[in-house]
Amino acid sequence: MIWCDAIFKQLLDADLCDRLPHALLFLGQAGLGKRELAQQFSQYLLCGHSRQTKKACGVCEDCRLFSANTHGDYYPIAPENQKTIGIDQIREMKSHAYQTSQRGRKKIFVIVGAEKMTIAASNAALKILEEPPLGCLFILISESKHALSSTILSRCHAYHFFVNDTTQVEQWLSDAVHKQFSKKEIICALQWSQFSPLLAKKWLEENKINFFDGLQGVLNQYFYRKASSYELIKYCQGKALADILFAAYLICYHFLKTHASDGRAIVYSLLSKIIGAQKLLEKHPTLNETLLLEALF
Ligand SMILES: [Zn+2]
Repeated sequence: MIWCDAIFKQLLDADLCDRLPHALLFLGQAGLGKRELAQQFSQYLLCGHSRQTKKACGVCEDCRLFSANTHGDYYPIAPENQKTIGIDQIREMKSHAYQTSQRGRKKIFVIVGAEKMTIAASNAALKILEEPPLGCLFILISESKHALSSTILSRCHAYHFFVNDTTQVEQWLSDAVHKQFSKKEIICALQWSQFSPLLAKKWLEENKINFFDGLQGVLNQYFYRKASSYELIKYCQGKALADILFAAYLICYHFLKTHASDGRAIVYSLLSKIIGAQKLLEKHPTLNETLLLEALF
């Protein structure tokens, strides 16, 4: 993940100088490798031979335990059912934090989706961050700092994940995908993912980019009343609702940014329906696809 190299180096340097803060916050949109880097860095810290080579050895006892997800000093937590992180999860994390390290090095706690902590969980987490037990490192991962309390933010050292060299990432993506794609397809995937390389990689491998491109064509015609609702629904049938809503949202947003007059009313109306449908889908993941498409278009 070449776009993460600078952050990884900063973390290694801070560790080598014994200046690693006790709480890190990895910020950035989905698909930028925040969780992967947190894992990589955690393994580096827990490995017995990493300091000389600046990377985890992959063969020592710690590395083996880490790879098997059984390392007693690595404790990741994430939202239950993709929804919230509750106070019980934070209380359990706290009880682990006050225990002695099992392998004699750091104890690492990774909170994935930190913005999904309930208020009670966030307050409990704040207390641990304010008075961290010795030898503990907390890595909070979030897509939006606005959803985190200012007191939590003030306790963490933030690292912002983003792509700043698109050419380098195009090459990375081209090497990382398992199939052969043209340069145009690679660029297109990166644009659809809003420069989140891991998301672009996933979509290329799942053949979603062609669907997104096709949807853009049909929707643009629909906005000018050159394609009917029927054609639009037919094009979307059989595709995952979350993908349709995601792509349609981006297409509407892009249309409003680039078109000053014609077709805007219909796009505004569709955009608000998409936002409503996304909320509905979050609550009821097994919604009837045809009914939802008919309501949308
Ligand atoms: Zn190792």
